[in-house]
Amino acid sequence: MTPTLNPMRRHREHCRHVREQLSDYLDGDLDAAQADAVTRHTRFCPSCRRMLTNLARTVSGLRALGALDAATGTSRAHD
Ligand SMILES: [Zn+2]
Repeated sequence: MTPTLNPMRRHREHCRHVREQLSDYLDGDLDAAQADAVTRHTRFCPSCRRMLTNLARTVSGLRALGALDAATGTSRAHD
């Protein structure tokens, strides 16, 4: 007999919810309670934490590229 209460299932649903909010989280568009929920979730969830890290790297990379383009007046990334 399997238990009906399944913490992993609840966890996965929470992951999905958190991942939908990651880009807003990085942009600072979440309210304090939402941002706090994302922070707490990524603290104990390695897979969401990895997604957040990757996304943060992508976002900061894009911002760095944008700043570089603005500074050099070119839209080409250097090789
Ligand atoms: Zn998660």
